[in-house]
Parts: sequence; C-alpha cells; structure tokens
Amino acid sequence: MKIELNDAEKWINLFVDKLEKNKAELNELDTAIGDGDHGTNMDRGAKAVKDAFAKKTPVDLSELFKTTAFAMIQKVGGASGPLYGTAFLDMSKAAKDNDDLSALVQIGADGIKRRGQSDVKMKTMIDVWQPIADDLKQGPLTDQQVTDALESTKDMVATKGRASYLEEKSAGHLDPGSQSSAYLFESLIEVIGG
Ligand code: ADP
Ligand code: MG
Ligand code: MG
Repeated sequence: MKIELNDAEKWINLFVDKLEKNKAELNELDTAIGDGDHGTNMDRGAKAVKDAFAKKTPVDLSELFKTTAFAMIQKVGGASGPLYGTAFLDMSKAAKDNDDLSALVQIGADGIKRRGQSDVKMKTMIDVWQPIADDLKQGPLTDQQVTDALESTKDMVATKGRASYLEEKSAGHLDPGSQSSAYLFESLIEVIGG
C-alpha cells in the first residue's frame, strides 16, 4: 500500500511519543543485556525529532524521513543512533520516487543490515524490521505480527551488539532495539490500521 505524508507524519510522531513514554522500560531491557542506556538514547532522539518538526514542517515523505534520520544520527548516539539514522536516511532517498510502504520498510531494514553488518537471528532490531517488512508485503500489519517478531528475540543468543558479549547468557531477554522497533511498527498500525 501507498503511504501519504499526512499518515507518515502521524506515524513518526506516535513513534517518538512512545519512545518518550517508555524510556524507563527501554533502559530496563538494556540493563539486562547491555549498558542500560537505550531508553535514554532514544528519548534524546525523540526530542530532537520533535524539535526538528517544530522548526520546519516536512513538505514531503522524503523530507520527513530525512529530518527524522538527521535528528537520530545527531542525538541518539550508541549503536542504535546510526542504525535508525541509516534506515530513515535510506527510506528518505527511496521516498523521492517510491511511496510504497512495504518497499520503504524493506529498504530501511536493508540499510540497518548494511550499516550494522547484521542479519536476522542475531538478536538485534533486524529481528523486528525484517519479519515486519515481509508481513507488510503480504497485506495489512497486525499487532500480533509485531508481538511475535519482538518475542522471537527473547530466546535468541546475541551475536551482534553489546548483548553478544554475554554469549549464551543473552538468551531469555527481549532485545531492547527490537522493543523500540516494535513501538515504531505499533505506531504504524495505529495510523494505517491493522
Ligand atoms: P549501545 O549498545 O551502543 O548502548 P543502544 O543501547 O542505544 O546502543 O542500542 C542497542 C540496540 O542496538 C540493540 O538492542 C540492538 O537491537 C541494536 N544493535 C546493536 N548492534 C547492532 C547491529 N550490528 N545491527 C543491528 N542492530 C544492532
Ligand atoms: Mg545501550
Ligand atoms: Mg551505550
């Protein structure tokens, strides 16, 4: 399906609201298998996105994703800042002549894989982005699909990112970046319906 500027704007605004609201939860997840800052990182990014939109309302899909990307690259930091930044920047470039939602999400996922040298089953945000990109190709996204993707990270042993330092001990916990990505796609469902 096509995504319009109006809906995409609502999507990103809902996402950053959730990031702010769930800062503590994201920090908690990252405390278990990382360094405890994922919520703080994403909250900084959320505020930067809001500031950027307030300064200049994006005029098209490409600019909306670009503004989001720059705010995240500049303010999130950590591993996740450049990864979300790359996803939104690649989506911005593609959105110049492509407004197909499933194509854009796949392009975002590919950007994260390239930047993070990662793929599915490594217990990273890719374990949400890739299944959701696949689900979107089949039809409307459901909350259950997002929950299933997020939950799938629980039993995985991390082989990328900080959690990989824990080796087998990383199993039994949700991946924090997958939780923030789940907020992204739950926000999308709230806008376009399931
Ligand atoms: P840091 O680990 O630098 O403190 P964050 O805590 O903000 O950064 O983000 C951690 C999240 O980033 C992880 O939960 C994971 O989802 C994601 N991540 C880390 N490394 C990679 C990678 N190489 N590819 C994809 N995602 C990654
Ligand atoms: Mg961290
Ligand atoms: Mg950190």
